[in-house]
Amino acid sequence: MRKPYNYDTRRSIWTDWWTRFQLEAHVEDKRTEWGRACWKSLDRSSTDLQTIPSVCFGSKVWTGHEEQLLPSCKRKCLTDWSNRALQHDGLKAYVSPTWVSRGTKYLTDTKGLFGQILFWSNTQNSAKKVLEHLRSKAAIVDTLLSDSVSRKFSTFHRDMTEECGAEAKQHSWAVLEKPEEIIMYGPYYPNYNNGEHSEDIIIKQTQELLCSRDVPEDWKVYVFTMNSPCLVRNTDPCINTDPCMLSLIHKAWEWWRVHGVKTHIGYVRCWGFKGNKENLFKEINFRQVECITQGVDYESYSKLADKITDLNPLCETVFSIAKDVLRSDKKHFPMMSSDQKQDRRSYFKSMSCSFEGKQGDEKKHLTTELNTMIEAAEALLSEKPESIEEHLEKGEAFSMAHTFSSQVCEALRDEMRVRFQQCWREMVQDRYAEFVRDELTEKFNRSTVQLFLQDVQTFTRQYLQIGKLQL
Ligand SMILES: [Zn+2]
Ligand SMILES: [Zn+2]
Repeated sequence: MRKPYNYDTRRSIWTDWWTRFQLEAHVEDKRTEWGRACWKSLDRSSTDLQTIPSVCFGSKVWTGHEEQLLPSCKRKCLTDWSNRALQHDGLKAYVSPTWVSRGTKYLTDTKGLFGQILFWSNTQNSAKKVLEHLRSKAAIVDTLLSDSVSRKFSTFHRDMTEECGAEAKQHSWAVLEKPEEIIMYGPYYPNYNNGEHSEDIIIKQTQELLCSRDVPEDWKVYVFTMNSPCLVRNTDPCINTDPCMLSLIHKAWEWWRVHGVKTHIGYVRCWGFKGNKENLFKEINFRQVECITQGVDYESYSKLADKITDLNPLCETVFSIAKDVLRSDKKHFPMMSSDQKQDRRSYFKSMSCSFEGKQGDEKKHLTTELNTMIEAAEALLSEKPESIEEHLEKGEAFSMAHTFSSQVCEALRDEMRVRFQQCWREMVQDRYAEFVRDELTEKFNRSTVQLFLQDVQTFTRQYLQIGKLQL
């Protein structure tokens, strides 16, 4: 059985936002009409404020009876804002055809945005879109922030690093920039015990800051996150947590609508849907890699793959992408990164079969001998990238040159050498397949972020910029 995509449909988590949007879109429609009415009446007689049906400000028109649609914090902000507008600036400045048309644009953009959000939250469709993009061999281009926003992030990042030190792990911090003051908060780290992502804390803190201050006008929010915000979260359907990317966009939309605040999000690494937990390529083991390399096309690949028992043939799309990656250039990969020494050791467990029949002191000696050999072999596990042949040769040369103690007889030495080479080969092959999977995952994640941002950003230009940082 071939299951091309390992994603489930998760549209349901968006129904809340969607319902709210439809409700608000309806209200906005009415407001726009009212906006026109406002403008007409002002045009007739700018002093006759009584004829204005509602209080208008910004791209929004606010009437008292709609209050129940909004949570109390937003209600307060809106009321404060409109009161201030009335007190200080008078009403007329806010009611103009520009504002009305801006309101209409906002509405069309929001509808477009929701269409994209619905599409992308159905990962069955969106992962397919990314795979098709990769298959077409179209270029993968990172989305960058505008120069001025990049410079802002660089400055904030420098300050943050000076204060808290450099950090490569996932973390987030944010800056609230007001004309007269700058508030930095963070860094925050994910808490994997309770499933909290660092962006969750950013959203909470920003929300609090925006709602606790009196008039957040012309403020800007900058959100830094090491990994781009996730697009899939909790495969457990019982846990109803939105992925961070979608939550942040939702919030940016809300902060703009309610507070007139612009949001900027900068990331360093492309996390895609779920970063290194992406399992689209998990079927690609070494035997799979061999079949892909040997198969000239999908048909010949399928024939090869079908002959091997318990090998799940890849779908044609994943095959083409993997074929492309394997064709491109000779792979040079390191045997390990520093945190992998322990699990590499487990490959040599089967070596102890060499002295299965032995007992007592002899067995003890041989176990020590084996451990010495494996420890010595750790010198081979460097971070230096080399080809698969080079890695295999190194292992063979090592086993031949290794000196055993005099207690190990000649026959046993030979057997241990052979077994070592088998274990080593298996480890190198697994590592090679892992490297190929990592490369595929990285491509997939980069494309995911690129395509997602392309789809979404056309509709959020007024208030939201998301892009990769080059720090
Ligand atoms: Zn508020
Ligand atoms: Zn997240």
